[in-house]
Amino acid sequence: MLSGEPRYRIDQLQRAVYRESATDFEQILTLPTSLRSALTHRFRFESLDSVRTEISSDGTRKALFRTADGAPVETVEMPTERAGATTICLSSQAGCGMGCTFCATGAMGLTRNLTGSEIVDQFLHFRRRSEAKRMPDRAVFMGMGEPLANLREVKSAVRLLVDPLAVGLSPRRVTVSTVGLPRGIHAMAGWGLPVSLAISLHAPDDRVRAELVPVARRFPLDTLMDASRRFQRQARRRVTYEYTLLDGVNDSPAQAADLARLLRGQRCHLNLIPFNVYPGARFRPTPRAGIRAFRDGLRARGIRATVRRTRGRDISGACGQLHAGALAGR
Ligand code: SAH
Ligand code: SF4
Repeated sequence: MLSGEPRYRIDQLQRAVYRESATDFEQILTLPTSLRSALTHRFRFESLDSVRTEISSDGTRKALFRTADGAPVETVEMPTERAGATTICLSSQAGCGMGCTFCATGAMGLTRNLTGSEIVDQFLHFRRRSEAKRMPDRAVFMGMGEPLANLREVKSAVRLLVDPLAVGLSPRRVTVSTVGLPRGIHAMAGWGLPVSLAISLHAPDDRVRAELVPVARRFPLDTLMDASRRFQRQARRRVTYEYTLLDGVNDSPAQAADLARLLRGQRCHLNLIPFNVYPGARFRPTPRAGIRAFRDGLRARGIRATVRRTRGRDISGACGQLHAGALAGR
């Protein structure tokens, strides 16, 4: 299509797609009319159809998309501490096949892997429609799906997200969160991109962890910790561990002590996540005082621990609540 066109047309197109606010080819006024209409007839500008957007009372926004073949995908935009900046919580799969027992996406099962473009388009959707006061500058793979179960497409999305000629994010502002697949963690360490890694831990021992995260039966904690330590050395990066607190399941003082022992000596940060309930959830959240006590038990043992601020609960946009309407029948 562009074969007879001068080389700078590609640059104009690339700039318009990745850096400007155009939402279809007709808006790319740097291209001649004939080319714009030829592109419109032959290609989709965005790989996802936006179905609806919900806005939370705390400013969080959740978009529901459908892929061209009808798979549902949800993406969340959260205001961050830095004034004017937002974080986009990306989905890497429609649904998820990992079956974690405290996660609404896990209850949906896996529809399919998303392509690199479908992942990047979630980010671009929000950036194209952003205002000066609300500019996405960070991407976290914490939406639907397990990113390291879709390694090839996630890697291609990450490359586009950090490519200065494409989306152009600072690699440090891109975080991949995994349920803990050691092979994927090794692969990521070899990408040569200083992107951040978050590992979902949720228990300091294999027995409780396997009840929450079924893949823990295949990848016990010693294998996972080896992979994580290797990443810390190879990428020279601190790893973030995520730990969702479930009342009476993984939140005792003894478990805080075990967790501190497990993480001792690692270059890491622990992010405690208050459990977000959803229709049909089997667990209850740890009360606030219990969350603080757990955090303090870790800090007293020298672990850098913080509690994640929950956002977007009223629109089912918080961690683990994404289900694209499948559970609530919406
Ligand atoms: N599949 C990846 C990334 C998506 S989930 C992973 O599991 O890491 C992002 C984080 O939210 C994970 O740490 C996940 O365990 C956590 N999470 C899932 N369900 C949750 C819930 N209902 N409440 C709080 N956190 C939850
Ligand atoms: Fe999948 Fe992550 Fe949910 Fe587990 S917590 S089911 S890996 S999205």
